[in-house]
Amino acid sequence: MHEVAIAESLLNVAIDNCTKSGHARITGIQVLIGKASGVMPEALLFAFDSMKPDTIAQDAVLEIIEVPLGGHCSSCRRDFEVEERYVLACPHCGGVQYSLVKGRELSISEMEVE
Ligand SMILES: [Zn+2]
Repeated sequence: MHEVAIAESLLNVAIDNCTKSGHARITGIQVLIGKASGVMPEALLFAFDSMKPDTIAQDAVLEIIEVPLGGHCSSCRRDFEVEERYVLACPHCGGVQYSLVKGRELSISEMEVE
């Protein structure tokens, strides 16, 4: 499962940052997950919770912020955002020449440590 590997690397990065900053415990981690990243938030949460016992993140609450897909259309030159996990055409003009500017995120945005 894809999410297990992601949860593992999130946990490793978080633990690494926490110990480097001289803290002993992680109490919360907020991650940004783009809707086009292919990561299922529920599966990631489950994987994270099953890995955190016996680490300094054992009490950490993982908060997942889903980032909608957004793009910039080169036909009408407007920015757009969609609720789906994919974009087929610009919602403003139906143009198919656009660039995705967000929605592929997979990163830690905030961490609470003690
Ligand atoms: Zn457009």
